[in-house]
This record gives sequence, structure tokens and C-alpha cells, in this order.
Amino acid sequence: RRGWIEVVCGSMFSGKTEELIRRLNRAKIARQRVEIFKPALDKRYHELDVVSHNANSIRSTPVALAQEILLLASGCDVVGIDEAQFFDESLVEVCSQLANRGTRVIVAGLDMDYTGKPFGPMPALMAVAEFVTKVHAVCVCCGELAAYSFRIAASEDKILLGETDSYEARCRPCFLEGMKEK
Ligand code: ADP
Ligand code: MG
Repeated sequence: RRGWIEVVCGSMFSGKTEELIRRLNRAKIARQRVEIFKPALDKRYHELDVVSHNANSIRSTPVALAQEILLLASGCDVVGIDEAQFFDESLVEVCSQLANRGTRVIVAGLDMDYTGKPFGPMPALMAVAEFVTKVHAVCVCCGELAAYSFRIAASEDKILLGETDSYEARCRPCFLEGMKEK
């Protein structure tokens, strides 16, 4: 069996999870054994589901450490990993080992943090992956393609009470503009 690594990266709201779910559902249609993992710290929406912003969802297994995936994914044809930026560098070795033993690995995650810096294990994963897809959101300021996740303070908006911070997708000029105003 042939294994490889696919990376789906981009900003928040760019459709990474949507694209991951699309690929995994197609693998299921092909009767392949599919398993999805995410870092246990991502408590957004539902504990056990990987959920996209357009409310598509797929059952997943939260793991505290990337290493756990190696054991849990034995017997899988396809392994999906969402929010990969939250794992440490050991995820790169884990994905390589899975691919080496014949597993198709599809990793989705933020390529940049809210300051525009490469995020966690993502740059290294992009380097070793056979396929890298960068998806784009729509800039909420001007409607151009957005590659940045801009952090906005939610404190003034009482409706957002309870959320510590929120983000919006922005293109390069609108991201830079926002950073200047901070
Ligand atoms: P990601 O996993 O990259 O954060 P999702 O797959 O969860 O993205 O969500 C993508 C969906 O988010 C889009 O299909 C769209 O319905 C919605 N969305 C909300 N805001 C935006 C935006 N600024 N640009 C593009 N899509 C957006
Ligand atoms: Mg997502």
C-alpha cells in the first residue's frame, strides 16, 4: 500500500475543515477505513466532532499528544488531522511514520498565527508533504482573497461576551492596516 501526506492550509474561515471533510467523505465512499483526530485542547463547538464554520461535521477523536495517533490509527487507510497547528513538532514525525507504513494522511491547519508568523508544526509539515493546498477566505474589509487571521478585541461588543477573542479573515493590505491601528 502506498502512503503519502496532504496538507490543507490557510487562514481562519478559508475552508480548511470543509475541504478536509470533503476528502474524508470521498474516501469513505471508496470504502476506505477513515479516522479523524484533533488536539484535545480544541473545545470549539462539539467535543467529538470536527465542525466547519458552515456547520458540516464529522466524528473525530480528540488526542492530547500526537504520538497517540500512531496507535489509534492502526488499521486505517486514511487519517485526517484537523487544527494541526496546535500539536507540537512531533506531529511531523508521526505523519511521516503513518505515510511510511502506507497510510494516506490529510492534515488541515492554520499556516500562520494572528501575527502572521508560521504556526507550530505546519511549515515543517508543508515541507515534507507530497501535496500542499492553500485555501483562501474572503477579506471581510474589501472582498479580496484573504490569507491572514486578524485578531479583533471582542470586549466592546456585549453580544460576544464569553468569547475571549475573535478573528476575522483579512488580505495583506487590510491585515497590515489593522496591525498599524493596534
Ligand atoms: P476553516 O476550517 O478554514 O476555519 P471552515 O471550513 O470551518 O474554515 O469554514 C469555511 C466556511 O466559513 C465557508 O464556507 C463560509 O461559509 C464561512 N465563512 C465565514 N466567513 C468567511 C470569510 N470571511 N471568507 C470565507 N468564508 C467564510
Ligand atoms: Mg477549521
